[in-house]
Formats: sequence, structure tokens, C-alpha cells
Amino acid sequence: MNPQKQSYIDGAHEGITNQTLQKSLKKIQNGFGHGAMHYWKSMPDPELRKRVKARRMQTLAHADIVLAELAGNIRNRGGNVYFAATAEDAIKYTLEVAEKNNVKRVVKGKSMTSAEVGIDPALEKAGIEVIETDLGEYIIQLAEDTPSHIIAPCIHLNREQIGKLFTEKLGIEYTDDPPTLTQTARKALREKLLSADMGLTGCNIACAETGHVSLVSNEGNIRMSTTMPKVHVAYMGLERVAATLEDQQGMLQLLTRGAALQKLSTYVSFTGGPSEQEDPDGPEEFHLVIIDNGRSKILGDPDFREVLACIRCGACLNICPVYGKIGGHAYNSPYCGPIGAVVTPLMQGINQYADLCKGETLCGACKDVCPVENDLPRMLSELRYRLAYGDSKWQVKPHNSTEGFVFRMWAKVNNSRKLYGSLLGMARWVMKGRIGENGMISKMFGPGKKWTKDRDLPPIAKKTFAERWKTEHKQNRPEKTQ
Ligand code: SF4
Repeated sequence: MNPQKQSYIDGAHEGITNQTLQKSLKKIQNGFGHGAMHYWKSMPDPELRKRVKARRMQTLAHADIVLAELAGNIRNRGGNVYFAATAEDAIKYTLEVAEKNNVKRVVKGKSMTSAEVGIDPALEKAGIEVIETDLGEYIIQLAEDTPSHIIAPCIHLNREQIGKLFTEKLGIEYTDDPPTLTQTARKALREKLLSADMGLTGCNIACAETGHVSLVSNEGNIRMSTTMPKVHVAYMGLERVAATLEDQQGMLQLLTRGAALQKLSTYVSFTGGPSEQEDPDGPEEFHLVIIDNGRSKILGDPDFREVLACIRCGACLNICPVYGKIGGHAYNSPYCGPIGAVVTPLMQGINQYADLCKGETLCGACKDVCPVENDLPRMLSELRYRLAYGDSKWQVKPHNSTEGFVFRMWAKVNNSRKLYGSLLGMARWVMKGRIGENGMISKMFGPGKKWTKDRDLPPIAKKTFAERWKTEHKQNRPEKTQ
């Protein structure tokens, strides 16, 4: 079995049986998920989502020009810009910057792109200490775990587990009191922030017109990570760019509302170059690493380009019935939920991550809640289409030739009334001996075994619809009059 498929199945089982996770998922879905859906319906500016989406698509269509403008404006301010074609290029560049500046400690702001690239292990291998400064990410790092939500990385842990973790890793007396735990993390992180040589963050949105990077946070850690160390490196996926300040404003408005029903996050930081003489603080060096890593291929495919309009708010996770049961770990990617089910196969391999797009229900809730109205269900179907028929452009082999054969046979059977009737009769006969006292089949064999593992199967009706129609219609048919 494809190891990724096994990991999806195992991760889903673990998620479903984790009671802490189940409780948190329910809370997050009832609160943020349904809240966002309700919010869009009553938004004072009902056209905002459409306007932002249209501008996102326009910007993506001219991404080369917009990114060149962004890079030019940052360079004019004394910042450095590096275009990384691959994750390896981004790592290489970052290690070079770290080496040049004799970096011993890196403080990080929450960044999914950095997780995608895999910079942490590379820095650690080079003997550099890496500290996450977002509270949730810090907890995950202490637990040597991975995030299970885009915005709320440690929702699978409860406060008792976090209390025990802090006792074990930070040496404090056990407590599960959230303010005490937060203060403990704050104190530990403050020391790291004060002595860090490099800040490594993501980028929520970069504005080409002004040449700056904006970062949202609710904890203030981003401000410290970007201004206290002498070097600031910001990672951005090439799609995270707004052409104008006005575009950026619209995206920010939607981002925080989609993520947590906030009109604006507690902090919004704007950065984009080394500190200037009159600045009280700020880095001596600024580097923006614009990462492709498969994005330009997505950009070049009109069926999938839309996914790059995503502003990573996490609202689709908060409403998805699949994510809402299995949680984020099953997706085995920094991007989970419906957005992950589209973007991960596109970036990591459609065959390898086939189960992510096949596992979603196509219920359409993710599209309804998405602030930029991304049609994720359409793109999930597109991925399934490519898996069914193969696609040389994406190096997709038809995923399951047996499945294809079964459906071709199914089509043949359905086209022949006689064949259909005989097979149905045979199946009825096979099932007969397996019907339990409750009138259901609770144990099947062969491929049916998996179905009855978790639920009963109703037996095939004694008469088909056509047979019943024939007899009942005949009985009710009015007598012919002479
Ligand atoms: S697809 Fe839409 S809802 Fe999901 S993370 Fe992206 S912007 Fe948010």
C-alpha cells in the first residue's frame, strides 16, 4: 500500500478516537465555522468577497509583473529579495544568510511555508537553535509534534496535557491553569527573543505597490521576532502578493474574519527592509524569500490557478465535515482540511496524495465559507478526474486500474437488463445466508468486508423495483373498457 494512504487511514483513525481533539473540533466548527458562514451572510459590504477574489485572480494573472514590482520596491529600501525555485533553494539561501551573520539562534513566527520547505531541521543540522514563538507552535515544538490546524496548531492537546508538557520540558510545578501556563511560555520565550540572531517569519500578504510585508498575530510575538534580532528573513509563497495597498486592505479584512471572526487581529506588523536611522529598533538586514516550489505549475493550469487565491484563513477547515472528524494530522502536510486536500496533491504529487482529494465529501460547505469563494469542490473533482484518466502534464497515472475495470463492467451490466437481473439474483442468493436477526447483514466477505467492518448492510430487496412495478401496476391498472 502507498505509505501515504496508510498514513491517511491511521491518522484518521487516531483523530476519530482522540476525545480531546473531537471536543475541540466540535467547538471550533460550531463557533468559527458556522460563525464565518453567518458572518458572510450579514456582512455590511456584501460585495467585498467578490471584489477581493476578482483582484486576486487579476494579480495572479500578472504575477510576474507584480512580483517584480514588489522585489524592486524592497530592494530600493535596502532589503534583499531571493526567488527560490525549490524548497532546497530556499534552505540553501537561508543557511548562507545564517552563516554569513554567524547566527546561533533563530526565533520563528508562525509560518506554514517554512514547514513546507522544511527549514527547521536544516537549521538544526547546521547547529542553530530554532525556537517557535507563537504559543501554539511553541507547545507543538516542545511536544515534538506537528500542527493539526492552520490557525490553531495544538487543538488536539488539552490544558492538562500542556501542563504536564511544561512540567517535563520547562521544569515548572504542574499546573493546568491557562494564564499561568501562558506566563511561563512568555517568560521562556522572552529570554530566547532577547538573545536571537535571526527572526524567521512567514508573510500573510506582501504589497507590491509599497514593497512591504504584512504579518498578523494576536500575541505580539511577530513584532519581537521581526525587530529584535539583527537579521529578519521572511518566507512567502509567490502567490501571497497584493498588487496595491487597497487590495491588501481587502484581503486583511477577509483574512481575520474568516480565521477567527475578528475585524482585525490584535497586531498587524508591516516590514520590508532594514531599520532606518531614525527607527528605534528593527533588523540590520532584511531578506524576503519568494518561494515557488511547484506554485508556478499550479499558476499555469487554468483548472487549478484559483487555489492560489487562498489567503490561508482556515475557515474551510472549520466547516469541513471530514476535517471536523479526522483532524489535521491525517493529511500529513502543513496544509490540511479541504485546502490541503487540493494544494498538497498539486505540490507533492497527485498519485501520492490521492486519498486526500478522494476523502473529501464534495458537500460544498468549504466553498460557501471561503472568504475568497474558492471553488475547492470543483478542484477536488478535477483532481479525481485526473486520477481516473491519468494526466501526463501532472505525471498522473490512472490511480486504480481495478477501479476503472470495475466501473467499466458496472456500465456494461447497467446497460443490459438481462445481465443486471441475473447478477442481482445471484447477489441476493449469496446474501441470503448472511442476514442476521435484525434483518441486516453485519459480516460480508471479500471487498464487502471493509464496508461491514463499521456498519451493517441492508440486504437486497426480495423484488426489484421493475418487478414490483410490473405486479403493482398491473393490479392497479383500470379494467379496459370494450
Ligand atoms: S481555501 Fe478559502 S477558506 Fe480555505 S484557507 Fe483558503 S481562503 Fe481560507
